[in-house]
Amino acid sequence: MSHLESMIAANLLTGNLPRTTGEVSAQFLEGARKALDIYRSWGAPCDVSLASFTPVVHKTGGDKVACFFTLGVDSFYTLIKHIDEIDDLIFVENFELRLSSHVREKTVATIREVAKHYGKTAVIERSDIRSRLDRFVDWYKYGHGPALASVALAHEAIYRKVYIAASNTMKIIQKCSSHPHIDPLWSTETLQFIHDSPITRLEKLRTIGEDTFALNLLRVCYQGGEYNCSKCEKCVRTMISLRLLGLQSTAFGKMPPLADIAILSRKAAETTNWPVWAQNIDETEALLKALKG
Ligand SMILES: [Zn+2]
Repeated sequence: MSHLESMIAANLLTGNLPRTTGEVSAQFLEGARKALDIYRSWGAPCDVSLASFTPVVHKTGGDKVACFFTLGVDSFYTLIKHIDEIDDLIFVENFELRLSSHVREKTVATIREVAKHYGKTAVIERSDIRSRLDRFVDWYKYGHGPALASVALAHEAIYRKVYIAASNTMKIIQKCSSHPHIDPLWSTETLQFIHDSPITRLEKLRTIGEDTFALNLLRVCYQGGEYNCSKCEKCVRTMISLRLLGLQSTAFGKMPPLADIAILSRKAAETTNWPVWAQNIDETEALLKALKG
């Protein structure tokens, strides 16, 4: 079986599609056209045509189920929610550019530890997709969704279903390349992509909090210098959520002083992360109301 679907997903936005009339899953081709329409409506430079490929129906595929796994809140929740179904945890080492070598090593070792603990298999991948896509498009807005799909499509012979954990709720859906309307479009007749659980991080943390092993291995920091720096916007946002839920995780340090949190909040208000902070505030008010009631 060719991996044309994988190459197409990786190159839709670079404009460098394989020059071939090769056979491609009919369902995938239709989905890729719809994905292109969405990206174009967001203003992406999608000067490609899929007309040369020959659509075929894939009849045989794999039987395993996987989820992309980074040790973060979203993917830990997806793993726990579908623990009976998932066989493999896929981590793509070089999709996170900022990771220092020691954090990268610790992350891979921890993912292997998690896989062993739950009786799963850790699949550690390396890929040059990010370095190629970064030259053309914004990774968050256009890159990482099709890049994840591309990695899984290269293993279409192994998997029948792959979960991509949702990063946002349905309430605050952003122009993000891993999107509830886009992720399923990468599916073929034999491999189904699921954009999983677009619910709040607080709800996800509540579930993760019931599993101390998972809670103590959470990794959310994007600074890359430490497992969790406990100082950046995302670390602090997660620590506040844990505090709200009355949970403690040994993966984080001490909560920063309130003055520092206020500064971070103001910074976050100037970034695209503001909707996620606002979600935290909404949840806080609801939680306080419930406690009072
Ligand atoms: Zn951090």
